[in-house]
Amino acid sequence: MNDIVTRFAPSPSGYLHLGHAASAAKAFGYAREHDGICLLRIEDIDTTRCKPEFERAIYEDLAWLGFKWPSPVRRQTDHLADYGAVLDKLRDIGLVYRCFKTRKEILNDIARAPHYSGEPYTGPHEPMDAGLEQELVAEGKPYAWRLSLYRAQEHLGRQYNRLAFTDNGEKIRAVPAVLGDVVLARKDVGTSYHIACCHDDALQGVTDIVRGVDLLESTHIHRLLQELMGWPVPCHHHHALLTDAAGKRYAKRDKSLTLRALRQSGATPDNIHENIQANILAQAQELG
Ligand code: GLU
Repeated sequence: MNDIVTRFAPSPSGYLHLGHAASAAKAFGYAREHDGICLLRIEDIDTTRCKPEFERAIYEDLAWLGFKWPSPVRRQTDHLADYGAVLDKLRDIGLVYRCFKTRKEILNDIARAPHYSGEPYTGPHEPMDAGLEQELVAEGKPYAWRLSLYRAQEHLGRQYNRLAFTDNGEKIRAVPAVLGDVVLARKDVGTSYHIACCHDDALQGVTDIVRGVDLLESTHIHRLLQELMGWPVPCHHHHALLTDAAGKRYAKRDKSLTLRALRQSGATPDNIHENIQANILAQAQELG
């Protein structure tokens, strides 16, 4: 029985690049150092951007780099009903609401707020008039299900302000307001990264989440979801993102730095691992 369970959870919306390889190396490395296991999970709920060829490439590229993971791999689109049930539960306890506002309307609302400082969106505290809501639904007006932080706070009482998680061993108070009333489901995608990711981490017994610091803000919302759903709270290990020579982080659009392109231009898995280690070392030295 392994105690430590980590996971690498890429979205097949492009080819993996050096930044992904670094993140995978950290997640698989953490599991190895702690005699645990690292799962591979395919986060493919955004069917407008995810493609089977990218998913195939994930298996191929990771295997090429020498990583091994247990089967079967969880593919989130195979489990949409599970995520729907989470949304149903949150809806039953009155913590989500339909938001009919367009992106533009939301940006206008935020800009009109008296103390505008670029905060994330927070919706009305009171539910919309039920008659009007039904009318809009019947008209086919698009909407998203948002998590009401106001209601969540009411629901949890004092516990809301006591939510915390650990990041690299340091205790951090969770402040879900950093992302505001996040979208938990859309009409086209009946779930969200937040629901699917937290649900799966709980279901798969993930004890340690190793991922890029770009997802640190999401962790504040995830901590709240864990509390609302009664899920365990994993330890977090957010890591710095790999950067190129100019200090810019790698992105899916940097085609020349995909693992595929590097392999085609003659790089070996060892070259990739050395490159990642050198980058991490340089970052550590820069930090002092
Ligand atoms: N699927 C997410 C991504 O590719 C990562 C999710 C996570 O590690 O929590 O950015």
